[in-house]
Amino acid sequence: MRASRSHLPATGDVDALLRLVAACRAPAHLPSLRAAHARLLLLLHPSHPSAAPARVKLIQAYAACSALPAAHAVLESSCPLDRGGTTTTAVCFNVLIRALTAASLHRDALRLFVSMRPRGPACFPDHYTYPLALKSCAASKELLLGLQIHSAVAKLGLDANRYVAHSAISMYARCGRPEDAYRVFDGMQHRDVVSWNAMISGFARAGLFERAVEVFKEFVALQCSIPDAGTMASILPAMGNAKAEDILFVRKAFDEMQFKELISWNAMLAIYANNGYHVKAVELFLRMEKDGIGVKPDSVTLATVLPPCGELSAFSVGKRIHENIKRKMMLPNLLLENALLDMYANCGCLKDAREVFDSMSARDVISWTSIISAYGKHGHGREAVDLFEKMLGQGLEPDSIAFVAVLAACSHAGLLDVGKRYFGSMTSRYHITPKAEHYTCMVDLLGRAGCISEAYDFITTMPIEPNERVWGALLQACRIHSNMDIGVVAADSLFRLVPEQTGYYVLLSNMYARAGRWADVTSVRSVMANKGIKKLPGASIVELGDRVHTFHIGDRYHPQSEMIYQKLDELLGRIRGMGYNPEVEATLHDVEEEDKEGHLSVHSEKLAIAFLLINTSPGTPIRVTMNLRTCGDCHFAAKLISTITSREIILKDTNRIHHIVQGACSCGDYW
Ligand code: ZN
Ligand code: ZN
Repeated sequence: MRASRSHLPATGDVDALLRLVAACRAPAHLPSLRAAHARLLLLLHPSHPSAAPARVKLIQAYAACSALPAAHAVLESSCPLDRGGTTTTAVCFNVLIRALTAASLHRDALRLFVSMRPRGPACFPDHYTYPLALKSCAASKELLLGLQIHSAVAKLGLDANRYVAHSAISMYARCGRPEDAYRVFDGMQHRDVVSWNAMISGFARAGLFERAVEVFKEFVALQCSIPDAGTMASILPAMGNAKAEDILFVRKAFDEMQFKELISWNAMLAIYANNGYHVKAVELFLRMEKDGIGVKPDSVTLATVLPPCGELSAFSVGKRIHENIKRKMMLPNLLLENALLDMYANCGCLKDAREVFDSMSARDVISWTSIISAYGKHGHGREAVDLFEKMLGQGLEPDSIAFVAVLAACSHAGLLDVGKRYFGSMTSRYHITPKAEHYTCMVDLLGRAGCISEAYDFITTMPIEPNERVWGALLQACRIHSNMDIGVVAADSLFRLVPEQTGYYVLLSNMYARAGRWADVTSVRSVMANKGIKKLPGASIVELGDRVHTFHIGDRYHPQSEMIYQKLDELLGRIRGMGYNPEVEATLHDVEEEDKEGHLSVHSEKLAIAFLLINTSPGTPIRVTMNLRTCGDCHFAAKLISTITSREIILKDTNRIHHIVQGACSCGDYW
């Protein structure tokens, strides 16, 4: 709308002026609004029937034009429109309070609210005012005022009003009184989906995640109304570290929703991604692309699903998302670019990760840390260190995580002196207190270089209690360098610290077995048996086309199972001639010799490699992701297989990325 003074309606035309006022909705309309306002002041006698609506319209219009002080001035003015205070009513206040709340000016809103009652009955707050005031109390954590308002509301009998109740629920929840919120919720006679959402999100925000899930389940079970996008958004924060059954429950509710909005998809994706359900996350995303009618992934969707793609090395899905992002011109977007960079790095595509990094117009410490960590995990410690120096050169302050990345890079590449120097500068220059992760990197670094006693001394002088990862790193080093004395000390500490931890049993019992401490071998194994702990079943995941395939040790469930085993037999037969002889040490000592070899040859990573060799054309890199550290036998086999098939094999385990080309691995055989 473009109105200027000359376009103003003819004198006397009050209705036209009021229409003009109502049409002013943006800051650009302010001049017209002011002119119309001035004209109205001349025309409208306080007794004029339009005086009261005019006042409301003016306040609304000024608020819509983001001129809140002007709106306030109209409310407070003693202009002819307000002679005798007859035209200022609660409605005027409600309009302005709503505008202030919408602009997050909660304290101003509350000040105005408090000033209403003293002005007399016409200005008493009503059932429109109270929810707004409670909302502002929630946002500014004004529990005391909130309590007063709520009790006033109850006296007036307005507490049965649903809007009032919803805002009381969220006020109590946000002011740290979730149980009071529940009392309000519980006392409601008629609840709708908004009531349930308010309570779920109330508990979730207060950190009472189990209560939030309980209410969610109760809501779904009642089947009075159906969860909506708001419900999904409310439950999301409570599902950070969720039980498997709860995730399943939410998924069922999600599937039963007839109309799924983008928010619901994004919430479900985030629940999967945050809980490590990478396969489920990627599958859901593919389903969304296929049957999400009218729903288009946005940057939140993509930033949520990229990390699971990286975790699974789902390179082709990730690549397609990247193309999607480029096509929709969603870049630059730091969040997305960092997610892309990480995805490529985790898929073992260092080159693509670097391309994303180089193309970024702005980079933060997270971007730098990602690329440093990518080079480190690929065994390119030198490059990682160079990048770290470059980051410092650009004046960026490294944080604790950046130091973990560069120290891990030094340890992966065996850069002992550089690593020591960084560790020193971390405290002396950047005043960052080292955490267990940093110590683990240092123990790894020293251990790799064969400085086992130094690593042990390092642990004994640590100012914090060494955790299982620190001892685990030492145990690993002792295994590789066959240091029995310190190895047994490390094993004892680990066993004492985390008797229920599954990850270390094999290492532990092997260490004891090698030391001839059979009694300890027995006690490790009896702990395992008593607690019902089994070795975490090794699983390898590969992507083929748009599907993710999972393999477990010795499994025969795959439709191509027969071909896979045939291929594997053929491969193992060929590499046996090259010196491959299944290492016997990698599994527990009391497995029969023959059995052991049988087990080793069907490790999930071997099955996954054979599967990809069958199903991809010559020269295609083989990407396998594992949920454990790869074993020495598979590592050796993979190196030989890369030679005889002339394929690059990218084996990602929980700790690093083994980039194997022509029989040589980027890890230098230390992991
Ligand atoms: Zn293996
Ligand atoms: Zn390796």
